[in-house]
Amino acid sequence: MAYFARKVIHATCPERYFIQYMQKQQNPFGKATYSLTFDFDFEKDIEAFPYVLDLLKKHDIKAGFAVIGKFVEEYPDIHLRAVDEGHEIINHTYTHPDNPHWAPDRYFNKLTYNEQKEEIERAHEVFKKNLGIECIGFRTPHYGNLHTESVYPILAELGYKYSSSTAACGYKGYGAPSEHSHGIIEIPTGCSVHFPFAIFDSWNMLRKKTPFLGDDKLFVKEFADTMKIIAEHNLFLTHYFDPYDITENGKLSNILDIIKKNKINTALYRDLHF
Ligand SMILES: [Zn+2]
Repeated sequence: MAYFARKVIHATCPERYFIQYMQKQQNPFGKATYSLTFDFDFEKDIEAFPYVLDLLKKHDIKAGFAVIGKFVEEYPDIHLRAVDEGHEIINHTYTHPDNPHWAPDRYFNKLTYNEQKEEIERAHEVFKKNLGIECIGFRTPHYGNLHTESVYPILAELGYKYSSSTAACGYKGYGAPSEHSHGIIEIPTGCSVHFPFAIFDSWNMLRKKTPFLGDDKLFVKEFADTMKIIAEHNLFLTHYFDPYDITENGKLSNILDIIKKNKINTALYRDLHF
C-alpha cells in the first residue's frame, strides 16, 4: 500500500491500520500470545524485583528478564528466585554500557568486537556460575540506539538462539520473530494500537517522548485496547518494561489482569521453536 494511503488510514482509523499491519505477521504460536519482558538497568529496578515476582506469581504469568551480569553478582538471590519460579533470563551484557553505575562513558555500539564479545561472554559466565543456567538469548543495552550488527556473529559463536534488540515497526516480516543473520532469531519488541510506529514501553511512552504525559491510566488503557485486538485476531505481541516505571501506581497489576481477562496465552522467548 502506498505510503500516503497508509498515512490516511492511520490518521482516520489507527485500529484498522494496526490490525492490517499485525495480520501480515507470521504468528509463531498460532494463537493470541503475549511475551512480557523486563529490563533491569538500575538499582531502583532491582528494588522493584520482589514485587514484580510476587505479582507474576499471583497471576501465574511467566516473563523474560533482561539482566546485567554485575547485578547478578551483587544480588544473586533475587535473580535465582526468578529462575526458580520459571522465568527466563536474557543476557543484557555484563555492565550495560553506558550504565551510570559502572560504564558511564562506554557505548555498546562503539565498543570493539572483542569488547562487545567480552561484555556478553562475561555475563553468560556469571549467569552460569550464580544461577546455574545456560542463557540462550540476548538484548542490546538501549536497543536500536546502541544495537549493532556485530552482535549476531558473537551470539552465534556462543551458541545463542535469539536476540531481542530491535523495534517491530519497520522491521522485516512486520515485526514477527525471524532469522536475522548467523542463524540468530531476532524478536523485535512491539507497538500499541494507537502508536504503530513506536515501541510501546514504559520509557518511551511515559518518560522520554511523553505522548501520554506520564498519564498512568491512559497508558493502561492503551495496553487494554491493544490486547483486546491481539485476542480478537489471534496475534503475537511482545513488549518490554522498566520494572521501576511499570510498578508505580499499580500499572503492572492492571496489565497482568488485562492479559488474563482477554485469555491471552503467555509465552517466553525460549518457547519459540528454534
Ligand atoms: Zn537496559
